[in-house]
Amino acid sequence: MRKEYNLIFERSIEGHRAYDLPNIDVPVLDSLIPSEYLSETDIPLPELAEIDVVRHYTNLSRRNFGVDNGFYPLGSCTMKYNPKINEETAKLFNNIHPYADQDCVQGALHIMAHTAEMLAEIAGMDACCLQPAAGAHGELTGIMLIKAYHESRNDFDRKIIIVPDAAHGTNPATAAMAGYKIKEIKSAADGGIDLDALRAAVGPDTAGLMLTNPSTLGLFEKNIIEVARIVHDAGGLLYYDGANLNAVMGIVRPGDMGFDVMHINLHKTFSTPHGGGGPGSGPVAVKEKLIPFLPKPVVKRTENGYVLDYDRPQSIGRVKNFYGNFSVIVRAYTYLLSLGADGIREAAENAVLNANYIRSKLRGVYDIPYDRICMHEFVATPNEKMRANHVTTMDVAKSLIDRGYHPPTIYFPLIVHEAMMIEPTETESKATLDAFIEVMKQLAHEGETNPEALHNAPVTTPIGRPDDVKAARMPIVKFCE
Ligand SMILES: *Cc1c(COP(=O)(O)O)cnc(C)c1O
Repeated sequence: MRKEYNLIFERSIEGHRAYDLPNIDVPVLDSLIPSEYLSETDIPLPELAEIDVVRHYTNLSRRNFGVDNGFYPLGSCTMKYNPKINEETAKLFNNIHPYADQDCVQGALHIMAHTAEMLAEIAGMDACCLQPAAGAHGELTGIMLIKAYHESRNDFDRKIIIVPDAAHGTNPATAAMAGYKIKEIKSAADGGIDLDALRAAVGPDTAGLMLTNPSTLGLFEKNIIEVARIVHDAGGLLYYDGANLNAVMGIVRPGDMGFDVMHINLHKTFSTPHGGGGPGSGPVAVKEKLIPFLPKPVVKRTENGYVLDYDRPQSIGRVKNFYGNFSVIVRAYTYLLSLGADGIREAAENAVLNANYIRSKLRGVYDIPYDRICMHEFVATPNEKMRANHVTTMDVAKSLIDRGYHPPTIYFPLIVHEAMMIEPTETESKATLDAFIEVMKQLAHEGETNPEALHNAPVTTPIGRPDDVKAARMPIVKFCE
């Protein structure tokens, strides 16, 4: 069998090279760096030929799983296909520099302005800022805007952000990071906001409410207009977690539901690549009353073209260097223009259709705790017989890996015990969904009749069940001591 190498250092052969630089033909100025900063020994870099470098990284990448490998129904994280034309257009802008003269980058400024306008339109908001680098960063920016708004009105007593118990973990974390106290409210029996609990929670200390609709259960909050009224009457603002707009874009707008500020994840809903900690983008859209506080600079249209406007005395300031992750914005822009208004709506409709198709096919095979028409995702759990055999959501997830699927999001939302949150997205064919449904049925059957097989999964991966908590808390990132 071919030897598996984990580290490029293990492949090193002394004297091997992947490049051949010409001799230097300018004076060497090593005196520029003070000698105490110079290393006394050579850095022990691996020595390899180009072909060995290519094989090493190609083989490592094959141990990874992405949307380009197979179906990836990760609830709350919208892993949809990133059309390759997005990469082509992003590449066109590889060579512009953030310090380039504004006259030379009018095209780039146009893309920023136009993307922001389209996102504001989809959001039902009045303006949009593209700076934040991810969803959680957009949340922080949005909550800072809420704080700036209250303080501009000399209202310093609003110390509390209300968050429902179904919220994404970033919501309470964001509110705490922005200096707020968090008041959690329990969900009602139907999975929605408990209006009485909300009425009891609001008061003169309420800065705002953070909410997502559809909720993390994939259910639309029918009482949203009443929720907005209760919060606004108490003097608070409404923050919409718009990481996942896949069920609503082109159909219903958070601005029309009564929200004042929201973020959007371009790296979920708008198809830009996602995962591995790469650059994301979390634009923040706001209603008129929050525009003065938006981060600066903003791109402004003038008679003489676009300019970056820094003259914004009430701005919360910059939240990121330069203007956001521009290449991600270009990908989302390409996606928006390729789909157009009708295509955006159709994508949402198909995302909802696909989720409901899987839900209805798995009904009776798995338990579906809130079994009604869902939005872009739904939550299922192992059935009673599986549970009696001690088959957990973890067992199902690991078994899916052996069968060539990325598992759904598991153990979230926290309010459902043994949750599996399944989100197919609109980019999958009926054939793909049917094949997945078949595998899910097989796993349920196996869990009822031969649970050992599931307990032992995965058997096809280099590592079986790592201790993820330990891996996150005590990562070993060094090759050797
Ligand atoms: C993904 C997600 C976030 C956070 O987005 P990041 O880009 O990962 O920071 C926030 N809220 C919800 C509901 C999400 O799904």
